[in-house]
Amino acid sequence: MPGYVPGEQPRGEVLKLNTNENPYPPSPRVIEAIHAMMGSSGECARRYPDPLATSLREALAAFDGVAPEEVVAGNGSDEILRLLMTVALESGAPVATLWPTYSYYDFLAAQCDAVIVRHELDDAWQWPESLDRGSEPMVFITNPNPPVGTLYPLGTIAGLCRARSDAIVVCDEAYIAFAPEGSTAIPLLRNHANLVVTRTFSKSHQLAGLRVGYAVGTGEVIESLRKVKDSYNVNALSQAAAAAAIQDTAHFAETRAKIVGERERLGRELRSRGFTVPESQANFVFAQHFDAPAIFRALVERRVFVRWFDSPRTRLGLRITVGRPDQTDALLEALDASMKRA
Ligand code: PMP
Repeated sequence: MPGYVPGEQPRGEVLKLNTNENPYPPSPRVIEAIHAMMGSSGECARRYPDPLATSLREALAAFDGVAPEEVVAGNGSDEILRLLMTVALESGAPVATLWPTYSYYDFLAAQCDAVIVRHELDDAWQWPESLDRGSEPMVFITNPNPPVGTLYPLGTIAGLCRARSDAIVVCDEAYIAFAPEGSTAIPLLRNHANLVVTRTFSKSHQLAGLRVGYAVGTGEVIESLRKVKDSYNVNALSQAAAAAAIQDTAHFAETRAKIVGERERLGRELRSRGFTVPESQANFVFAQHFDAPAIFRALVERRVFVRWFDSPRTRLGLRITVGRPDQTDALLEALDASMKRA
């Protein structure tokens, strides 16, 4: 099987807008929590961490209005996605996804010998009715959905859970922090035991390097995740950091507002340069242009990294992470120079 190709992690001086990291530093409380956890003796390094990440799960449960038993923490949400496929899919089973979407699902399914069934979004990135009518035992949707950042309304997600009551529906909310408040599917968990919501600290809370994600659900699938996960899947420093991050709601609100504001400016600037930029509710935009592959290459030459996916539905677009205003300025400067030449 082909391996997954993650976004490049280039070394040295670059403008890195290719893997949707949050451009702001983590909360000072995160750094304090890491120092406090480590202490001067390094005791937390010597001992194994809490296998159930109890304090972190309690903090998450309070934040999301669920019970701690309804939460499982993972080494990034990629681990959670992998565990979900592992517990739910037999070899050869079909698993439904939107398309285009997060292509890591294809790679995970290949590892489980499962077969991805793509339900294609139309040219306006609208929800495919076929997804509600399908019969796959597992469905992965991403909301907002990359590479465009389209947000599907809660009614659509609830309709999917109802129509697919025999299937496990995973709603990957990696980017939900950048959507309007009230967009999360977590309130639907009360009425839909087949729904699992996954989240990550990588984008919303500046912790991509510490690898923390989680799943929330009410059905038995959460218990299954707990059974199959590695005992010590989230290290002690990451547990402490994530618990501190979730509690600093002021830092979250401030950084979120900056990113949402900058997303609108970036969209406007790109449109004025001839790109088509559909509305995004995530921390990236999808900038479409007939010459996107050449522009992508010209940007790399200038040490500016955005993401380009070589598939028929995505090759005329650049997925660009929303950065700080100075990063947007540098990107636009590089784009202007690249497009003059391309
Ligand atoms: N889901 C989606 C849709 C993503 O884009 C990503 C990040 N590439 C992830 C999950 C995984 O995030 P992490 O493992 O950093 O929590």
